[in-house]
Amino acid sequence: MSDTLLTASGLTKRFGGLAAVNNVSLELWRNRIHAVIGPNGAGKSTLANLLSGDLPPTSGEVRLGGVDITGWTPERISRQGLGRSYQKTNIFQPFTVWDNVRLAAQSRQAQQPWNPLSWWHSATKSIATNDRATRAIELSGLKDRRGAMADAISHGEQRQLEIAMTLATAPQVLLLDEPLAGMGVAEAQRMVELLLKLKKDHAILLVEHDMDAVFALADHLTVMVNGQAIASGTPAAIRSNAEVQAAYLGEEHA
Ligand code: ADP
Ligand code: MG
Repeated sequence: MSDTLLTASGLTKRFGGLAAVNNVSLELWRNRIHAVIGPNGAGKSTLANLLSGDLPPTSGEVRLGGVDITGWTPERISRQGLGRSYQKTNIFQPFTVWDNVRLAAQSRQAQQPWNPLSWWHSATKSIATNDRATRAIELSGLKDRRGAMADAISHGEQRQLEIAMTLATAPQVLLLDEPLAGMGVAEAQRMVELLLKLKKDHAILLVEHDMDAVFALADHLTVMVNGQAIASGTPAAIRSNAEVQAAYLGEEHA
């Protein structure tokens, strides 16, 4: 059995005359972190949007577990096993940590047509949903904060909550858009450890600007500039790539 969970082929997204993503291909493997790096405006978030179904591609194809998911809605793609966290937070501030994760876990359920056993289905589903939410909270290190209001926890904990909400949908593939953004050193270190833990069960696409974290975590990197993947390879190969040095790493990772 192949461990390739997601394959994107020739993905392009045009906004009018701008090719925000231009003929990008990549694979995500279970137990591996694939980092996508590049300057602001390179097309990293747009690429994530094409994989998650938040945007339909202009052309190209996305396959998840061998199934062609191109053009599917984000909800359907989520139920197929792809979880996405966003660069901008998705948290409902007036609710507790637990409520946020529970709601995310619930979104995993497909709407059932009316059926006479629906009371039974909803009871068993509710247990499964609670279990998923509990596991997601424990895994993301928020067990002690489950009763806290989402706006009362620290910035780092809010990013952990984002991850917990993503995990609550029971994904096999995780797309994480700048999970370390705005974090202090200790928070960033905690997030790096969490991502290493998540790698054991998931295929991960990591969009991130923190180059220390990227090089500590990534098994494979793709470098995007102006919508194009200008290089793809191991961390060692990317570090020593002259074009990448000139286009991106030189300034940001001196
Ligand atoms: P990154 O995440 O690498 O910083 P983005 O994917 O957010 O880059 O943006 C890539 C380019 O596409 C930018 O020039 C941005 O302005 C443009 N862009 C992103 N989303 C849209 C949109 N919905 N409509 C028009 N242009 C967009
Ligand atoms: Mg972005």
